Amino acid sequence: MPDSAARLTFGGGDPTSSESGHPPAGGRGSALPRRPVGRSLTRGFVNRCPNCGKGAVIHGYLKVNDACPSCGEDLSHQRADDAPPYLTMVIVGHIVVPLMLLVWTLTSLPSWVHIAFWIPFTLIMTLTLLRPIKGAVVGLQWANRMHGFGEEVVHVRTG
Ligand SMILES: [Zn+2]
Repeated sequence: MPDSAARLTFGGGDPTSSESGHPPAGGRGSALPRRPVGRSLTRGFVNRCPNCGKGAVIHGYLKVNDACPSCGEDLSHQRADDAPPYLTMVIVGHIVVPLMLLVWTLTSLPSWVHIAFWIPFTLIMTLTLLRPIKGAVVGLQWANRMHGFGEEVVHVRTG
């Protein structure tokens, strides 16, 4: 009977972490080794596995690999969801809007030139940044042991 297995979670002495539903982050007081956040973010940004830095995190345009093709690290725990598009919009918006206003103020270009330039510029920038930002979000989640990335699950037969 498969339900006879009990699910145990290890990895920290912080009782509040289990109440919030998040595994311990490998920080102070945790038995799990720390994972460098900056390195994981950078590796994810350049589409490299946050664990080994060799295998790809993403295949195709935005599909995250279930596991690293190089070291086999389980990447299926990622829950990037809406974070990459949100962050991409924030970054692109904070670059495009000031630039557009600056060019609008300093030049006397006709409106059609602005439309012809800024729409494709925004589109290209968004589509270029979305993929590396998604990789970085996966790296961040891995480094902080979020969404099951840090869970050590042990099945114990009770029957
Ligand atoms: Zn790897």
